[in-house]
Amino acid sequence: MTTGVLGVAGAGTMGAGIAQLACLGGYQTRLWDPVPEALAAGAERLRADLGRGAERERWSAAQAEAAAGRLTTASSLDEFEGCGLVIEAAPEDLRLKRELYVRLEAACGPDSVLATNTSSLSVTEIAAEAERRERICGMHFFNPPALMKLVEVVAGEATAERALRTATDAAERMGRTAIRCGDSPGFVVNRCNRPFVLESLRILDQGIAGHAEIDRVLREDGGYRMGPFELMDLIGIDVNLEVARSFFRQRPEPRWQPHPIQERMVADGRLGRKTGRGFYEYRDGKRLDPAGGGELDDAGRRSVLERVVSQLVNEACFAADEGVAEPADIDTAMRLGLNHPRGPFEWLDEIGAERVEAILEALHAGSDERYRPAPLLQRRARSAHSN
Ligand code: NAD
Repeated sequence: MTTGVLGVAGAGTMGAGIAQLACLGGYQTRLWDPVPEALAAGAERLRADLGRGAERERWSAAQAEAAAGRLTTASSLDEFEGCGLVIEAAPEDLRLKRELYVRLEAACGPDSVLATNTSSLSVTEIAAEAERRERICGMHFFNPPALMKLVEVVAGEATAERALRTATDAAERMGRTAIRCGDSPGFVVNRCNRPFVLESLRILDQGIAGHAEIDRVLREDGGYRMGPFELMDLIGIDVNLEVARSFFRQRPEPRWQPHPIQERMVADGRLGRKTGRGFYEYRDGKRLDPAGGGELDDAGRRSVLERVVSQLVNEACFAADEGVAEPADIDTAMRLGLNHPRGPFEWLDEIGAERVEAILEALHAGSDERYRPAPLLQRRARSAHSN
């Protein structure tokens, strides 16, 4: 299968990984990066990963060789002429991306679809200076692209159905699952996972349980691979706080307000694994603290789990209400994009809409906006009540 020519702009972590998937998907793939050393290193990494995948029997040696044979490194953007689809994985900088789209439009034919892998910028804003904005959409891959099965296909304000279909087909040809979503802060996955960390920080702040206990409850009772505090330490408290600030800047929702615990930790230089100290302590990359936790009884554990899960459900309901994505797609996205054990609407079915609403109403207490139940949740609770 060799039909289709695909371009990838930017040969860093994501670009090289996406180009690898394109080669495996049968596309003649042209990889370009303005920094020659970055281009050479990206192509080298791609070829090495194809070889390693064959050793691990993820594909055959013949498939790896054929895939490597489909890769061309492009020394100039002009070589993108004739690409049906170009995926852009350049640095996360609005000005840089806008300029790049103007150049991409000049280099590619008028029918090429252009897709951005941005994780936090608006597709509509990236496309703002382009001539044919209807051909620009988002294709949000997750890191590492070779292992993460999800692609969020994002419709900007001007994006035409043809562009979305091209992106969806390409994602599927690369062996990924595509979900469609709207152009709003964090798309689906990054937005709908906000409460995992934020609600856990509030529970810690209120002295209901320690960080190790909250982690244990979410891992052991909730089935999450990592607890929120382990996750924050891994990502970096500073990185996590910056994401929180970016959400709040884009839209000052009370539920999205960055938490003061993170602000204090960043001010103290307690950034997580990389500084040897975050919520836990580390030496030579290994966690020092004993397992910890264990202070809650069964009812306490259940209440911690239900609080975090109810807020995950509520955020997903707000997102679905706003038309960001369909509930079933939100579930798929959370399972594949974050390895969550179940999606928020699956949790909702499991716990019941009336119970989730009651948990939130108790925390909302008539005035705390962070816990105001989403209209969709209220509708589901009412219809459960009347059945
Ligand atoms: P990176 O820094 O690893 O790679 C960026 C590459 O772009 C570099 O090789 C750089 O030389 C090149 N570049 C610089 N200027 C360019 C230009 N004008 N045009 C094209 N390429 C240019 O970054 P990354 O982690 O691969 O991120 C790329 C994009 O993917 C960003 O938009 C980021 O938000 C998004 N993303 C990253 C992750 C992640 O976990 N790293 C996950 C999902 C999405």
